[in-house]
Amino acid sequence: MPSKIKGYAGKFLRVDMSEGKLSDEVFDEATLRKYLGGTGIGCKIMYEEVPPDADWSDPVNRVTIGSGPLGGTAVGGSGTISIVTKGALTGGSTSVQANGLFGAYLRFSGYDGIIVQGASESWKYLVIRDGGAELKDADEIMGLDTYEVGDYLRESYGVRGRSASVLSIGPAGEKLVRWAGVFVDHGHSASHNGSGAVLGSKKLKAIMAFRSTGSPELADPEGLKEVAQRIYEDVEYFRGTIGGVETAQKSGSGSLPIKNYTTNLWDVDAEKVDTFGERYLRDTYQFEREPCWGCRLLHCAMFRIEDGPYAGVVEEPEYEQMAAWGPVVDVKDVEATMMLSALTDRLGLENNEAGWLTGWVIECLEKGYLSKEETGIDVRWGDVDAIVELLKMISERRGFGDVLAEGVKRASEKVGGEAAKAAIYTMKGNTPRGHDHRTRWAEMFDTCVSNTSTIETHMSAMGPGAQGPENPMEVSTEVARTKGLMQLEDSVGTCRFNTRMNNVYISEAVAAATGWDFTAEEGKRVGLRAVNLMRAYNLRVGIGAEYDRPSTRYGSTPVDGPTVGISILPHWDAMLRNYYGLMGWDTETGIPLPETLEELGLGHVVKDMEKL
Ligand code: SF4
Repeated sequence: MPSKIKGYAGKFLRVDMSEGKLSDEVFDEATLRKYLGGTGIGCKIMYEEVPPDADWSDPVNRVTIGSGPLGGTAVGGSGTISIVTKGALTGGSTSVQANGLFGAYLRFSGYDGIIVQGASESWKYLVIRDGGAELKDADEIMGLDTYEVGDYLRESYGVRGRSASVLSIGPAGEKLVRWAGVFVDHGHSASHNGSGAVLGSKKLKAIMAFRSTGSPELADPEGLKEVAQRIYEDVEYFRGTIGGVETAQKSGSGSLPIKNYTTNLWDVDAEKVDTFGERYLRDTYQFEREPCWGCRLLHCAMFRIEDGPYAGVVEEPEYEQMAAWGPVVDVKDVEATMMLSALTDRLGLENNEAGWLTGWVIECLEKGYLSKEETGIDVRWGDVDAIVELLKMISERRGFGDVLAEGVKRASEKVGGEAAKAAIYTMKGNTPRGHDHRTRWAEMFDTCVSNTSTIETHMSAMGPGAQGPENPMEVSTEVARTKGLMQLEDSVGTCRFNTRMNNVYISEAVAAATGWDFTAEEGKRVGLRAVNLMRAYNLRVGIGAEYDRPSTRYGSTPVDGPTVGISILPHWDAMLRNYYGLMGWDTETGIPLPETLEELGLGHVVKDMEKL
């Protein structure tokens, strides 16, 4: 029986792919209050059920796909899901999120989340509707890209409009490309650290959640609406991130990632830069809005390139995609940039890794670190056709694509020599987001110290001094001060552009949904619990302080631009010690101290840390 806790659908769906068995799992109120949902519950499941020495592709690995107590409510953008698993790139903890409709529909269908375990003999997809779920043979959708899977299933089930949401992996996930992602509703991705590869290893191609007719009972619906309205009104003017390449280029800040970090100056005509602007892109290509659940912000539209070599439909690319397929690989035709963005999503590849990897291949071929004989393909800066072919080779694990499918860290280590020094990644094995972090120190530091090896907090929550380079210790302090906020947000089921990691608003909304006397401080502690569980899990895997660093190229010194000659690395060790100390961890090893864990209600983790 589902629990009757207000704010919750009342049960999780456990899917055993090995047995083909579905069962309901009910968490008691104390557990839900401690972990909330999404990332919080996912971290608990991973820590308790996935042995640290298990491979990411071992059937014992778990994939928790969760909404939270705000999922499908009046809070704007509350269709968000979090995915937690042992990641394929780092072998450690991973928490990623995607917006869309799925989280809301999951809750309307009677579930707060899904826990996937085991591995099937044959490919399946899962259908969730009105309190029930069913595993189906996936033969007919195998090989389809992530746009096609959703469209095909919606049509097969006669779904009208937006009455169902589809989460899937693409061809890359089927081939266990180590950095394949999970995609929801045309291009919302939860992709870092190989979440799609893990689903692929379980032979779960897609999950379809119907709109259904249920709705979790709320303790104070009017109160929640009132908080939701304040959250909406407090959002600054927001028109998406699509125009970020134009603004970054025009700012001259050096934050644009150009040609695999070989320069901070993009040699591009001003008219071309204008075509990367948000106004131009919306006026020229936007034809339809496709917002997530309950979102009133001007974001997530569909774009159409009417004709020419890149004609097609593209879900609104984010800055990350425009950067990866613009300056990183020196493509200056914005239509090609948008097409490559859509292709990456469709193939089910993670966008950041795809961009850094492609830039690395191009630089290696240019400088002779790799030969065309080795790669089987010649790719040059701005060569769109060759990039398309390279992405297909990777998603099919064809030829040299099989090497690249392992990710840029492993591929560069395999090639070795100068090539190994030219690759952008963190030492844990994941890749950073889409700015040149050598001018955004908080993001570089956070990316490297984070458990998932991608950003774990955000500069928008930090003070103005967090960018560096004048004040490295403030950077480190701000990263520590804001830890836990993102994990709280990813535990309640809302979009970051709406709730903005604001633990005051989020906790007020949780209180209204559940009826608990839930404070902002309690909310942040939920987030910190997740951070510490992921840290402890990584330490048990063997991912310790020595991995809290950038690769040679990622941490390199800019050779031109506004921060020429300035490096974060001389400050790194002091920043690390400061960060560890502020997090309540041992200042040398980064191991959470017993009192930190006890204070967060994680006493059961203490003995695991003592064994390290
Ligand atoms: S801001 Fe964008 S990503 Fe977030 S909920 Fe709204 S439409 Fe979705």
